[in-house]
Amino acid sequence: MAGTLTGHTKPTKVKKLQQSQKRKRSDVDVEKLAQAVQELDLQGQEFKSFTDLPLSDPTKAGLKASHFTTLTDIQAKAIPLALKGADILGAAKTGSGKTLAFVIPVLENLYRSQCVGQDAGLGAMIISPTRELAIQIFEVLYNVGKKGHLFAAGLIIGGKSLSEERDALVRMNIVVCTPGRILQHLSQTVGFNVDNLQMLVLDEADRILDMGFQRDLDAIIDYLPTQRQTLLFSATQTKKVSDLARLSLQDPEYVAVHEAAESATPKSLQQNYVVCPLSEKLDTLWSFIQSSKKSKIIVFLSSGKQVRFVYESFRHMQPGIPLLHLHGRQKQTARLDITSKFSAAKNSCLFATDVAARGLDFPAVDWVVQVDCPEDTDTYIHRVGRTARYERKGRAVLFLDPSEEEGMLKRLEAKKVPIERINIRQKKQQSIKNQLQNMCFKDPQLKYLGQKAFVSYVKSIHIMKDKEIFQLNKLPLEDYAGSLGLPGAPRIKFMKGDNAKELKNAPRQHLSSSEDEGSEDEESKSKKKDKEQVRTKYDRMFERTNQDVLSGHYSKLIQHEFSGDEDEKEDAASKADQGSDSDDDLMTVKRVIPAAEGAPDEAVGTDALDADGKKIVSLPGAKDPLLIDSKRREKLLKSKKKLLKFKGNGQKLVFDDEGNAHELYELEDEEDFRKNGAAEDQRQRFLEEERERIEQADVADKALAKEKRLAKKIKRKERAKADPESDDEEDGGVELGSGQDQQQAFDDFAKFLDETRASDVESEEAQEPPQKKRPKKWFEDDSEDDEAPKHKKKKGGKKGKAVEEPETFEDLEALAAGMLNE
Ligand code: ADP
Ligand code: MG
Repeated sequence: MAGTLTGHTKPTKVKKLQQSQKRKRSDVDVEKLAQAVQELDLQGQEFKSFTDLPLSDPTKAGLKASHFTTLTDIQAKAIPLALKGADILGAAKTGSGKTLAFVIPVLENLYRSQCVGQDAGLGAMIISPTRELAIQIFEVLYNVGKKGHLFAAGLIIGGKSLSEERDALVRMNIVVCTPGRILQHLSQTVGFNVDNLQMLVLDEADRILDMGFQRDLDAIIDYLPTQRQTLLFSATQTKKVSDLARLSLQDPEYVAVHEAAESATPKSLQQNYVVCPLSEKLDTLWSFIQSSKKSKIIVFLSSGKQVRFVYESFRHMQPGIPLLHLHGRQKQTARLDITSKFSAAKNSCLFATDVAARGLDFPAVDWVVQVDCPEDTDTYIHRVGRTARYERKGRAVLFLDPSEEEGMLKRLEAKKVPIERINIRQKKQQSIKNQLQNMCFKDPQLKYLGQKAFVSYVKSIHIMKDKEIFQLNKLPLEDYAGSLGLPGAPRIKFMKGDNAKELKNAPRQHLSSSEDEGSEDEESKSKKKDKEQVRTKYDRMFERTNQDVLSGHYSKLIQHEFSGDEDEKEDAASKADQGSDSDDDLMTVKRVIPAAEGAPDEAVGTDALDADGKKIVSLPGAKDPLLIDSKRREKLLKSKKKLLKFKGNGQKLVFDDEGNAHELYELEDEEDFRKNGAAEDQRQRFLEEERERIEQADVADKALAKEKRLAKKIKRKERAKADPESDDEEDGGVELGSGQDQQQAFDDFAKFLDETRASDVESEEAQEPPQKKRPKKWFEDDSEDDEAPKHKKKKGGKKGKAVEEPETFEDLEALAAGMLNE
């Protein structure tokens, strides 16, 4: 039965291996294992390595192939408990190996209960707050499970059609998912049966339990059987009784390995902050990047709009380091592309929203820079947790406006976050304000992005809960707008009672807000009033661009905007998503109104006066001119939409080579038509011809696609060759970012900032040991790991499946859905 499991969207293939033999063996296996688990002595026994645990052979093999040998603290405590079936609240610092702490029990517990095959139904559900994290968990699951487990596993995170997901879902034994999307299936997918669900896992549990996901999660829980094991993991764990009650946990074990630790963040993480007025944050960021070109950096900003603006403007200024950007409004494919690029990069700077704050395990990140102050300490802890993972070193720097300093420091101290102030060396500080102004001046689209960034930043501050830190009235907003290259601060109206978390995660359909119509028009009006002072030629030119091409568009757009762009709720909002602008190319606007007809007055023809002195307006395309004889009519002129009624229908014409207009379809002379044979014959002929044409085009398309695939493969191989460093490790571990580079990076920064503790620089000189234990990601080169390719080849040969090593996450899924089988 298990052998008939198939790939995600692949047709069924019967596994040739005789199952009965295997079944008998695993039955014996299972009994022994069950007994060993029962005999586990949680008090007396100490667990150091994975071999100390009663694990199934496939899991052991998977762990070995991924080079995991010693248990981390959280793993040593949580896995034995979870194997015994306890509900667990697991808390451990970022980067301490929580993923394996739940992945292993999931595989093991389902294995022992033989929850395999389509009839067994869904045995475990693992929920993640973001798609990227879900994919990463799935990779870990795949790597540990691929050496012989027979489960079908899959990802349900949206970005695919519901029906495609549905087909795969009904076969799955383990699903990794985001809340919105899985809820959609629970409520809509016929045949998706969760009655046998044995395990529910929430990674980043506090995030999933907070307000943003409240409704979804409650609804999901309603579908699940109450008799189940529930595992919750996070670096900032919830202990709220109400949360635990919601999940109907049964005497949960609270496993917190770092509670007594001095700090809530990893020891190997050095944390600093600089005090820097909001209006100088971009200058400081630019200077920082200039001094750290050899590093791998993540820069956190508060909204997707900020990310886009900073990315786009910095890119134009050629910073000398590859830039990337990640936020929730990007297409799924783009997001995947970016995360894998950043993972593989040695030196790169990623601008991101909090969509990247939680859980993501990018290898060898040197720096986490927080340009915008995080909304709370938990967010801070998760953001900095993207570096200094699993025994590596890392550094984090937080930019604080003077008004934010006191409040934020108090909060950080209360949560045991050790952070020290450092100063910016003024000599090294470069100002990019003029450059930005120049760029915004030349490029209205960039300026438009800047305006959006400004608006979303201000709104994000406005909806922050912690008013001791976020005080809008204390921020130098005019200067801030100037620092973005804008000629003045756009005006914004606010709605009362906004709530950050709720807004941040609200499905987009509900987001049209009444709050912020006032933008450009009010801006220019208000400027006229209070800006009687000196106005330069440039100011006037700026205002002029404001009023034509994009102004109407801009104000319309910001009506639909909300500040938080952490976009986990995408699933629920995926419909709304389809229409939203693709961020593949950053500068796209939804609809461009050509300058010539930008303002309604320009769209209508020249005015004339009739005999009574009333205005007559000729509309392009309309038969009769429009008589403006009342206030209402006058008003009409302001609305393009309403004017449509008077314009009549347009007509599509085609032009021949001489430039003569023809109607789109011109009727043939009837006699000529008859000459060509009977109508039905002609129709058949036409169909035949078209079919042939399409077939030919198809062949060409396929050839092209093949070529592209081949080129990609060759490139990948070349890259692997050109980058032998990651290959020469004997144990197969990879080390991204050589020690030297990192050293260089640290040195550079040491030059840039006045270190308050000189000794730190020295201590960094001690090169850190190469990171050995990290398993390879599927997008990393696997060539020297001879076990993996063999395994894949074998599989390919046996089952005639043409999947090579997983190249995209679809490949990975396809492999895993058949999955974890061998
Ligand atoms: P967390 O979820 O606690 O933030 P992860 O599970 O993402 O941490 O693990 C962080 C890193 O540590 C990953 O790169 C992972 O491969 C590595 N890791 C986890 N457990 C072990 C282990 N037992 N031995 C070696 N490396 C490990
Ligand atoms: Mg994690």
